[in-house]
Amino acid sequence: MMKVENIIVGAGPFGLSIASHLRENNIEALVIGRPMASWRGHMPTGMILKSETFASNLSDPLSRYNFERFLRLRGTTYRPIGDPLSLSDFIDYADWFRQHAVPEVRDVELINLRRIEDGFELGLGDGSHLWAKRVILATGYLAFRQTPLALGTFPAELVTHTSQHRDLSQFAGKDVTVIGRGQSGLETAALLRERGANVRILVRAANVEWNSDPNAIRSLIARLRRPDAGLGAGWYSLAMSELPTAFFRLPLHKRDRIVRTSWGPSGAWWLKQRVVDKIPVLTSHELSHVVERNGKLELSVQAAGETVRFETDHIIAATGYKVDMKRLAFLDKALQSEIKAFDGSPKLNAAFESSVPGLHFVGVASAQSFGPVMRFVYGTKHAAAILTRHVRSVSQVRPSKIRTGDTAPVGA
Ligand SMILES: Cc1cc2nc3c(=O)[nH]c(=O)nc-3n(C[C@H](O)[C@H](O)[C@H](O)COP(=O)(O)OP(=O)(O)OC[C@H]3O[C@@H](n4cnc5c(N)ncnc54)[C@H](O)[C@@H]3O)c2cc1C
Repeated sequence: MMKVENIIVGAGPFGLSIASHLRENNIEALVIGRPMASWRGHMPTGMILKSETFASNLSDPLSRYNFERFLRLRGTTYRPIGDPLSLSDFIDYADWFRQHAVPEVRDVELINLRRIEDGFELGLGDGSHLWAKRVILATGYLAFRQTPLALGTFPAELVTHTSQHRDLSQFAGKDVTVIGRGQSGLETAALLRERGANVRILVRAANVEWNSDPNAIRSLIARLRRPDAGLGAGWYSLAMSELPTAFFRLPLHKRDRIVRTSWGPSGAWWLKQRVVDKIPVLTSHELSHVVERNGKLELSVQAAGETVRFETDHIIAATGYKVDMKRLAFLDKALQSEIKAFDGSPKLNAAFESSVPGLHFVGVASAQSFGPVMRFVYGTKHAAAILTRHVRSVSQVRPSKIRTGDTAPVGA
């Protein structure tokens, strides 16, 4: 069995950023997983990122592989804010980052993770096994998707979750109902309409919120009052974007409440014009019951104390994700029972380490500990720096020389 000191599971923004920091510090680390698989396979073609370009950088220790440099090498103008960033550009950027900062990624799935004496055994999708002293789980959102109970039993021809779609043009000419008022629901609805579907959005809340346009000219005073930050403008946002270790020191219940209640559903500023007055948005409409009739779905919806019924060909649940350790199918039962959790999220120490020594969680699974920033790409720089400091201190690695001067062209 091959032995590796540190294994990072998941080659998304968090896994790649952490690998880049460890590598630059001469710390042995192997990344496993298909690079950027959730962005490539589980987000719709034509999607635009909600985060601004400056807040969408993957992290390497010297910020050599940032978006600004990527776009300049490609001959494109870089605007840090107010210039919507497409999914395809983001994936191209992440590929470029990986080629330069983390050239070795093993494209294989983790099937089983169990604890053994002095470390962990990883059973992989190709039948092989690895041994690691430390495992960093950067496996992202996908395992945690939620669908309302009323929709749980229908086949995928009738009901799906937003994460199951890449190509929405398959719905051209169909009647589709999207449930949810977050960015994913609103953007899915806009893309469906633009691809020829008849679409409506069903929203339980009384309204849909839209973020303000960062291109609007703001006075110096207005900018001092609400400075730009990774998670959006404002001092609170700035604190949440930049101080995850201060957030970590708050009492658990307070952290949990902040994570559950802040950065709630809203639409990006550039999306508003593609939805408002173009797509029916049925606010204060709560789905109560769905039945299948002759290959179509009949929805019963509560609105203003009355039951409204209508038919649709397909429902897409844009109902998000909820972290729950029990849904990580690769965790061996014995290992799972050792991970202490609060409301589904692992309890972590200041180095992202769970109650199982040597087992770390980053990304959305660490948001309850380090704040909402860990749900976004912007959190990669913090997670990578903190974890690298920790791994260096426990591995007693000699300080490395950081390589400089890499000027390889885009795509090289
Ligand atoms: C529709 C949508 C739009 C979003 N837009 C933005 C945005 O604009 N800006 C922003 O900052 N954030 C956005 N997010 C949040 C975004 O997903 C996270 O910021 C980011 O992906 C977190 O990176 P990650 O590495 O933790 O997770 P992921 O990007 O999900 O990467 C995790 C990786 O782990 C892999 N993996 C999982 N299980 C295994 C396994 N058993 N073995 C091997 N590999 C495994 C997955 O395949 C995946 O590639 C969006 C999320 C969604 C769903």
